[in-house]
Amino acid sequence: MNLDEALGLIAEIPDFPEPGVLFRDLSPLFAHGPGFAAVTDALAGTVEPDVELLAAVEARGFMLAAAVGYARGLGVVLVRKPGKLPSVAGRVDYALEYGTATLELPENVVRTGARVAVVDDVLATGGTVNAACTLLENAGGVVSGVSVVLELAALDGRAALGGRKVSSLQVV
Ligand code: IMP
Repeated sequence: MNLDEALGLIAEIPDFPEPGVLFRDLSPLFAHGPGFAAVTDALAGTVEPDVELLAAVEARGFMLAAAVGYARGLGVVLVRKPGKLPSVAGRVDYALEYGTATLELPENVVRTGARVAVVDDVLATGGTVNAACTLLENAGGVVSGVSVVLELAALDGRAALGGRKVSSLQVV
């Protein structure tokens, strides 16, 4: 399956999770073997050759980063919702498109100077990925780039990422 066909599996759900929001549901894409493989290969191709570690945001980022990590021979650091980790390197509170949230980074995983690529499903306002980048950088990592399946251009997530390199498989 080619990448355009795979991206065509993403469903558009009006008025979720709030009236007026058009939610992009990647569930049909994740559930489709050839589609998931096409997206994984394309995302893997956006990760710079010198990257040493992938970072993923709970929860959909986890499965994408795991697949990309396998394809590229890289490990994954899991950026988690609060209360899941026994010891944390740091935590960040941030604003979401709809609400607020907190993320935590596990202690003793990101080596000082390690080149890290962040993988997630959707870049909306950029708050989530920016929080992940901040955690990684505060821990001594160097964010090489951000790779997402879908970028919602109207929400200008790139601006929130302050010049960090962003690779999107599709911009809508
Ligand atoms: P942001 O922080 O506003 O960029 O929102 C990005 C986070 O919210 C990502 O981790 C996504 O998983 C999730 N998200 C925001 N909008 C959508 C959407 O339309 N579909 C699926 N996930 C979304």
